[in-house]
Amino acid sequence: MEVFAVPDIPEIEPGDDLATLIDERVDLREGDVLTVASTVVSKAEGRGADLSDFEAGEHARDIADQIGEIAGERKDPRFAQAVIEESEELVMAAPFILAVTRFGHITVNAGIDRSNVPGADLLLLPEDPSASARRLSDALGVPVVVTDTSGRPFRQGQRGVAIGWAGLPAMRDWRGEHDREGRELTATVEAVVDELAAATNLVTGEGDDGRPVAVVRDWEFGDHDGHDHLFRDRDGDLVRQALADFEYH
Ligand code: GDP
Ligand code: MN
Ligand code: MN
Ligand code: MN
Repeated sequence: MEVFAVPDIPEIEPGDDLATLIDERVDLREGDVLTVASTVVSKAEGRGADLSDFEAGEHARDIADQIGEIAGERKDPRFAQAVIEESEELVMAAPFILAVTRFGHITVNAGIDRSNVPGADLLLLPEDPSASARRLSDALGVPVVVTDTSGRPFRQGQRGVAIGWAGLPAMRDWRGEHDREGRELTATVEAVVDELAAATNLVTGEGDDGRPVAVVRDWEFGDHDGHDHLFRDRDGDLVRQALADFEYH
């Protein structure tokens, strides 16, 4: 397979028609998968915001205090308020805010970004990234994955993950297939949309590269079962349950 960035995407402004901007810059083929950084989806959807848009309530001030006590530097309570308003639930408040977004993705600060955001303090994640991916996919005729750079537990460093997708299943389900010894696979479900996001993140970069859109060409999902159950349910998530009882010492 081949991975390449779509060239010459301009600075994205609220209201921009991303699908047309992409369509004018790349000849997509059947079988391609397009990945789009959530940053430009958010910009096009007008998800820039200013700290002054948020009025910190008691919970937000309390979180800012807790983080301040641990980290020595108080977080702006209005930022904590923004995270609260973008979240369905907070898994953890300090030393960092680990939030469940309304669309099910669990990430630090609800994915609110402060890099590559000219003209605003903050950039909120798209409200419903799979709906955004669906609109792009319908317009462009190929599967689309909306990505974000995200940290991982247990490991240093970040990598691209899928936060929305359309036109392909999120997961490639190997259960019921066999290994080379004929042993049946009973647990392996591959999060292919995350793997595609990580692969294209290698060419989109994180800084001033200006390459938010990438194409994966000549990759095949193959003859496997698939489904969309990427985000764990709370009930099956032992780590989330453990963190709910977490207190920083
Ligand atoms: P995130 O991973 O979705 O948070 O996005 P990043 O901030 O890491 O940006 C991903 C890529 O998109 C980088 O190459 C940025 O330079 C680029 N980028 C961000 N915003 C824009 C934009 O408005 N226009 C263009 N052309 N590139 C952008
Ligand atoms: Mn981001
Ligand atoms: Mn990134
Ligand atoms: Mn293995």
